[in-house]
Amino acid sequence: MARKPIIAGNWKMNKTAKEAKEFAEAVKNNIPSNSKVDSVVGSPALFLQELVESANGTELKISAQNCYFENAGAFTGETSPAALNDLGVDYVIIGHSERREYFHETDEDINKKAKAIFANNMTPIFCCGETLETYEAGKTAEWIESQITNGLVGLSNEQVASMVIAYEPIWAIGTGKSADANIADDICGVVRKTVEKLYGKEVSESVRIQYGGSVKPENIAEYMAKENVDGALVGGASLQPDSFLALLEAVK
Ligand code: PEP
Repeated sequence: MARKPIIAGNWKMNKTAKEAKEFAEAVKNNIPSNSKVDSVVGSPALFLQELVESANGTELKISAQNCYFENAGAFTGETSPAALNDLGVDYVIIGHSERREYFHETDEDINKKAKAIFANNMTPIFCCGETLETYEAGKTAEWIESQITNGLVGLSNEQVASMVIAYEPIWAIGTGKSADANIADDICGVVRKTVEKLYGKEVSESVRIQYGGSVKPENIAEYMAKENVDGALVGGASLQPDSFLALLEAVK
């Protein structure tokens, strides 16, 4: 089955409202026409409304970087998935290694978030990935299998088939040390095999799997050429309009 590539930017905690708006204005009408790639920008919650309004009617889709798993209530400082959907947000990144490490998010939290995102008609971009220590110990495959198994538990076949999973080795994020494309393909293959084991072949052939970790316009083609890589989750190289557009151009 042909899977449509998806490139998602993750701005992390960067930009002001003015810069976010300028980015959307510069990018939204320059996305390759008849685009063969889904183009997504993951913004801090503060700028989502501005971005959704600016991108309305264009090929540019907007993602949050996190949300809570309850729709409303006494959860000071959290972001409601129902409110995100109401704004017009399409995707939510969950389980990013920075959230797991600095904010102590567990597989169970991330699983609840995935369910809440689907319940609110949005698509999760579910991140998984191993530390350098796990990688060097040769335990990446079992680590990834466990993150996928625990993170997706209780989701329906239809939900898993429609979601995006990002494999991001922690040692490659923001370090400039991108994983070799063959390694990225192997581990994205482990993700796909794990999904197949849990949900069957049809679902595993539909789910889109991204590689993330120091992807830039100069190296994205190497990853996209691989069988199991359907796109990229990109931090640093997604911040500037020219660089983001160059990523899309390299894929189309
Ligand atoms: C990320 O933030 O998910 C990421 C992959 O960052 P970078 O592209 O900067 O390594």
